[in-house]
Amino acid sequence: MDIFKKCREYTDAKEVMEKGIYPYFLPLAENEGTEVVYNGKRMIMCGSNNYLGLTTHPKVKEAAIKAVERFGTSCTGSRFLNGTLELHEQVEKEIADFVGKEEALIFSTGMQTNLGTISALISRDDVVILDKEDHASIVDGARLGYGKIERFPHNDIEHLERVLKSIPEDRGRLIVVDGVFSMGGDLADLPHLIPMARKYDARVMVDDAHGMGVVGGGRGTAREFGMDNDVDLIMSTFSKSFASLGGFIAGNSDIIHYIKHTARSLIFSASIPASNAAAVLAAIQVIRDEPERVTRVNIIGETIRTELRAMGFNIGNSVTPIVPVIIGDDELTFRSWKALFENGVFVNPVVSPAVSAGQQLLRTSYMATHTDEQIDKVLSVFQKVGKELAII
Ligand code: PMP
Repeated sequence: MDIFKKCREYTDAKEVMEKGIYPYFLPLAENEGTEVVYNGKRMIMCGSNNYLGLTTHPKVKEAAIKAVERFGTSCTGSRFLNGTLELHEQVEKEIADFVGKEEALIFSTGMQTNLGTISALISRDDVVILDKEDHASIVDGARLGYGKIERFPHNDIEHLERVLKSIPEDRGRLIVVDGVFSMGGDLADLPHLIPMARKYDARVMVDDAHGMGVVGGGRGTAREFGMDNDVDLIMSTFSKSFASLGGFIAGNSDIIHYIKHTARSLIFSASIPASNAAAVLAAIQVIRDEPERVTRVNIIGETIRTELRAMGFNIGNSVTPIVPVIIGDDELTFRSWKALFENGVFVNPVVSPAVSAGQQLLRTSYMATHTDEQIDKVLSVFQKVGKELAII
């Protein structure tokens, strides 16, 4: 059997292309943060994770440019060998301080952080316990480990207890959840999850890719609930609020030391370039100096949620600037995406299997730098499209 047979027979994407509603891999000619240019047309970006709008902040850009001038464009090697700069260690200290943990460790992406951290911690006799809405990188990190994987329905702490109860006492246990869930924009129920974890001697890791810079005054979901000390490991990415590329895991020194010497995605992959590290340092400084950005992105999120709900859209349980518009059908999701696109609003369509059937949605997300005029335009386009396609 030819290994490529499945490739030739794969028609899903081509069928959507033929209908003229293919929404992926769209090459942008310009990206100014809140506005992008596609095919000569200017659009409002409501599908980015640039929550604080820092990718175009003059101080962040300047820091990256200066780092290229000083260090060149690449570290050409792993942190483990030739690829560690003093700058990486400076970022690790800043991050540890920012999230209130003893130490932090930088990986080259958030995906690699989850792959490396979870697989390093989960040995043959251990169990990793995941929320069913956890990000793919958490699932893949768990699959790379040699232990057992258990899952519980989204934020269902009673079910989590049943899972924990069923695990023999001599097994190590790690619960991994998103802090802010990437599709739903809702929060992990840490106030109930943490006591349950303690009761059954389980450790807790929170992926705060979408919480950092957004909730807890920008310090993330654990801070939001005043539970920094109760969450054992805080993970996040640099590719969202921190306006760069990379990821980190933060926790107690001995745990970080172990991960540093056993995580294969860290040891066998090149470190982030100096420009990315310098951008993170500058972004953290801006977040400290300009807390009003965190306030602003949350105000915008609230306005969008209130207005879309009032129009009759189903926005699920979002409490953050990630606002899903649940459409509930693949084709209608693509058609509504296209109608918004043609009216100058860029959002992300999410269909099955990324979400379960009936939950297909338009993922919209907002930036501190969106103007009131842009938000008004987005809302009026949503109303127009919602009516035209009989969604509201
Ligand atoms: N975790 C979550 C919850 C994410 O949403 C993402 C990225 N979308 C990642 C991890 C991976 O981060 P990165 O883009 O840095 O690989």
